[in-house]
Amino acid sequence: MNAMTSTIQNLFIELGVTLADYEGNDIASISPINGLPLASLRADNATQVAQKIDRAHNAFLAWRKVPAPRRGELIRVFGEELRTHKTALGQLVTLEAGKILQEGLGEVQEMIDICDFAVGLSRQLYGLTIASERPGHRMMEVWHPLGVVGVISAFNFPVAVWAWNAALAFVCGNSVTWKPSEKTPLTALATHALFMKAVARFNASSNDAPDGLAELIIGARDTGAQMVEDKRVALVSATGSTRMGRQVAEVCAKRLTRTILELGGNNAMIVAPSADLEMAVRAITFSAVGTAGQRCTTLRRLFVHDSIYDTLVPRLKKIYAGLPIGNPLEKSTLIGPLVDQAAFEAMQTALNAAKADQGVVFGGDRVIVTGSETGYYVRPAIVEMPSQTAHMHHEVFAPIMYIVRYQNLQQAVDWNNEVPQGLSSSIFTTDMREAELFMSDVGSDCGIANVNIGPSGAEIGGAFGGEKDTGGGRESGSDAWKAYMRRSTNTINYSHSLPLAQGISFDI
Ligand code: NAD
Repeated sequence: MNAMTSTIQNLFIELGVTLADYEGNDIASISPINGLPLASLRADNATQVAQKIDRAHNAFLAWRKVPAPRRGELIRVFGEELRTHKTALGQLVTLEAGKILQEGLGEVQEMIDICDFAVGLSRQLYGLTIASERPGHRMMEVWHPLGVVGVISAFNFPVAVWAWNAALAFVCGNSVTWKPSEKTPLTALATHALFMKAVARFNASSNDAPDGLAELIIGARDTGAQMVEDKRVALVSATGSTRMGRQVAEVCAKRLTRTILELGGNNAMIVAPSADLEMAVRAITFSAVGTAGQRCTTLRRLFVHDSIYDTLVPRLKKIYAGLPIGNPLEKSTLIGPLVDQAAFEAMQTALNAAKADQGVVFGGDRVIVTGSETGYYVRPAIVEMPSQTAHMHHEVFAPIMYIVRYQNLQQAVDWNNEVPQGLSSSIFTTDMREAELFMSDVGSDCGIANVNIGPSGAEIGGAFGGEKDTGGGRESGSDAWKAYMRRSTNTINYSHSLPLAQGISFDI
């Protein structure tokens, strides 16, 4: 047993997780910190997946009848459990996903925030009343629960993505089946255990939360694919690579099922001549190297105006040279490991391709961390490019920031929009006309367009998601809840006659 295994066991005791049900040899949870296994689990087989979806479907039939504010009460209790166990769950995120502890804790805070949002939402699932063209008629729309919501999540936000979906889905009257990343099953087991604790507390005063309301499905792609194909899953919310999203979208299109797709990003920032460079430097660094470049919103392309390029880029290189890289559990570390060897190799391939395109690479080499020699740690890379090349159109899930000089804003906006992905973007400028143009209909084509902050680190209050190859889905705040409900339009005739719409005469 290595030292981390015993830490995990203590965390499991606090979080109420038991591995007994899942002991097996199908899925290995490997810590990116040292590349060593934390646990070995069995996957759910096809029969078990079908049974879980069946249970979730039966749960939905009961849960939809529970008043929405009461459903919100369950999420309020779950938020309390998360607050109580924030440190333990945050540590587990760090151990299994490799992000630094501050970010592990931040991820759990995001879960708490969305719970608070969902509790309020449970009393605000409003529909419209619409003026009818017919006398003595009234039109209205009512939002109803949808069914089983199938959530697929990626390794890099192993618990928050489920919470964004689940907190909203539950208050909207749905049940949830969750297929987490095969790289992060332990954090999923812990989250599920905390949710079941909340269910037990909630059910102590009434028995409103049925068995099967939340089902956890452990497995790899095939297991996820089975969930996506199942007709009882009314909405598939899938977060991960564009490759995965295309596969999921095809299956769902065939059976005409709704999807929320949150896929890859290739996010850019423009730094204009009037930018506050102090702020820009901090925003660039956090956005480009945070989570070791493994966020969907990571800054990957930086367009710097010619007039400030030679001031800004040397400053960035100086900061990059001194970044503390190491064990993510240590307080002083800002850059933890890549998730695995494959991620490291993909990064090196991309850097070689950039060199072949006349790029000048700074950093990007492997860093050996004492005590964690078998983990894949890298110095984040800056790559100065003569222009935006075809290789820069691909998302490489590692800390590579390409920098290109631009001469006029239109050129930079065109580059921002030239890639297939459309998740996040930002501009640093104090020129109001530039800022407004960037956010306008002819500006950034991304789902997120920020001014004077980086592209990464969204709050839960806004709708989160992006366009084009990012999938078009929206999760979290604003009116994203509507995707988890079905809209019923009702026309009520309280008159004594039957006028037809459009003035049609149909006498019988
Ligand atoms: P991935 O696509 O390899 O896996 C994501 C999930 O999809 C896993 O649970 C996996 O088992 C499942 N999966 C894969 N193929 C499937 C299929 N055919 N049917 C059903 N399920 C399937 O992604 P990853 O490496 O875990 O995560 C990194 C990617 O996720 C990056 O591209 C990143 O940009 C993206 N991401 C996007 C967002 C967003 O909100 N837009 C958030 C986080 C991560």
